[in-house]
Amino acid sequence: MVTLKTSKELAKMRKAGSVTAQALRAGGEAVKPGVTTGEINRIIHQFILSKGAKPSFLGYGGFPASACISVNDEIIHGIPGKRVLQEGDIVSIDVGAIVDGYQGDSAWTFVAGQPSQAAQALMDATEQSLMEAIKVMLPGNRLGDIGHAVQSYVEARGFGVVREYVGHGIGREMHEEPEVPNYGRAGHGVRLVPGMVLAVEPMITEKSPACKVLADDWTVVTVDHGLAAHFEHTIAITDNGPVILTLP
Ligand code: MG
Ligand code: MG
Repeated sequence: MVTLKTSKELAKMRKAGSVTAQALRAGGEAVKPGVTTGEINRIIHQFILSKGAKPSFLGYGGFPASACISVNDEIIHGIPGKRVLQEGDIVSIDVGAIVDGYQGDSAWTFVAGQPSQAAQALMDATEQSLMEAIKVMLPGNRLGDIGHAVQSYVEARGFGVVREYVGHGIGREMHEEPEVPNYGRAGHGVRLVPGMVLAVEPMITEKSPACKVLADDWTVVTVDHGLAAHFEHTIAITDNGPVILTLP
């Protein structure tokens, strides 16, 4: 069942989104050559606690950290640890925070030092595909319009859309109905109505979107080792159009 949020609930979700966005920014500022992914996770974890919020990823399904940090060919669910970032690495950080019982969820791909041209093009296209998706999140449109917006934007630029992982509804739970694929047919699927809150999260690959899970049972990587980028916002559909809740 898709739960619709009241304006009071949306106000709480905006607070959760703000803490999430600020934590993500703090983590992103720490992305530099020589820094470990474990250190970035520590900064994000401390930031969330300092706001009196709860890191939603820590312990979720047994995940051992407060942020997923996925480097280069890692698409999502990378476990932070001893890995030292190198010049030109692209680093996808995914963060969730709970405030007053409500969830925020946001991700961004940062770069350590200077990116390659290919990496920059992938990051730009992935970020913009999220913006294209948000534009169509209007009452009366359909779920398929979101996926279609992402897919058509990135595939026109030669990039791949991961099929196995998708965005989701969000509220009191991190993952609520409906699933929000990054591919789809315009005009098809569930109708978008005011009060829906969706985490839209394009996971886009430089080459083939085929992916697999590493032996740690978490990290999802591209099979061909091409780069991947991941951008995510938590967005409310309102009578006044889409409202991004995960802004600082
Ligand atoms: Mg996320
Ligand atoms: Mg998400």
